[in-house]
Amino acid sequence: MLLDPLQSRALFSHALGRHYAVLAVNADSPAAVADVLDAALGVGAPAIIETSLWQLEGRAYGAGDAVLGLGRYLADLAVLANGARYAGVPVVFHTDHIKGPKTEAVLSAALRGVEVALSVGGGLLRASTVSVDASGLSDGENVALVCRLAEIAAAAGAPATIEMEAEVDAGQTPPERSRRLLGSVEARHPGVVWLWAPALGTRHGLGDGYPEFRVERVAQNAALAREVTGRDVGLALHGSSGLAAESLAAAARSGVVKVNWSSESLLLRSGAARDFYAARAAELEPGHPQWKASAMDNGVQSFVAARYVPRVAERMRLLGGEGQGPAFLETLRRGAAA
Ligand SMILES: [Zn+2]
Repeated sequence: MLLDPLQSRALFSHALGRHYAVLAVNADSPAAVADVLDAALGVGAPAIIETSLWQLEGRAYGAGDAVLGLGRYLADLAVLANGARYAGVPVVFHTDHIKGPKTEAVLSAALRGVEVALSVGGGLLRASTVSVDASGLSDGENVALVCRLAEIAAAAGAPATIEMEAEVDAGQTPPERSRRLLGSVEARHPGVVWLWAPALGTRHGLGDGYPEFRVERVAQNAALAREVTGRDVGLALHGSSGLAAESLAAAARSGVVKVNWSSESLLLRSGAARDFYAARAAELEPGHPQWKASAMDNGVQSFVAARYVPRVAERMRLLGGEGQGPAFLETLRRGAAA
């Protein structure tokens, strides 16, 4: 079930209250999206599917046009996540790193929704949640961009559920800076920031185990976010690929509710594809009786899925997500009935 911006807030609160985190996978293609949903279904975990600018503009989606890519991505995900197979899996669609001159156009479309013509009638495809990528922005520019997006959403009558970040690759964000960033947005647009991504000692990329990571900083930042906003604002962790399993599990118990996963995921998928083509090289020749089964996209995608899905499932379990998908949907149903 694809969650809207308000249901997504409820999911983050659920995760914070029950001390687990939702795995957020940067997914490059429809096949990768389906693999993540299969893992979530098997584990009974919620999932976040997220995309950065390079995926929206990539061949699988927008082929150079990020807003077209957003529409294609969301259409595919809506059909999949709202269909019968994944009805029991809460799914958030999140726009992750988007920066540069297209930022406002892409994030406005994510918040307002992309209009699509259907066979009969039409529809609006909207992101569940959006990130503001603060890299390269001053704190003032970061605050101004979050506020601008809140205004755009409000003008469209759309709820905004925003992840705000500090410089996530820059050591540790000092508490006074966190307070200033969150407080400045809260003073102008209370209630739009629902995820806080301070620097916690990890970095984007494959990482080195991050010996400087301290789980106490997670708890401190979560307490600070609650103090400044007065609500259940959990943390988003960027750069999880190189972090030790025990640190990840501890972070999920201490206030991290969203764990971004990209580099290791890319390496797993590309390594499996490499092995598939290496093993089938002889079959990919004209005249070989097996050439078609090896040449079609479904051949490599099925091979990748068989290796990748168990690793995604393992990570969802590590974050404490097992069984939390149906548990969350039950709280949503009870809330709706109340
Ligand atoms: Zn990131």
